[in-house]
Amino acid sequence: MTEAAQGALIFVVLVILFIAAVGLSASRHPMSTCRRCSGTGRKRSWLLSSRWRPCPYCSGGVVNRRP
Ligand SMILES: [Zn+2]
Repeated sequence: MTEAAQGALIFVVLVILFIAAVGLSASRHPMSTCRRCSGTGRKRSWLLSSRWRPCPYCSGGVVNRRP
């Protein structure tokens, strides 16, 4: 095996390890802030700025991304 091929192999292994670490971290931390209401749990009226309703996409601004 040439040195270039070894370098490429090491790079691929590092990328795979990084992806595995991201996946493991995501599976261990399933809770996330709701993007629709940015974690407030409130959906503001576009017409009346002081009026709001509970965000229909989450419960209290927290989303469980684990299916
Ligand atoms: Zn929400």
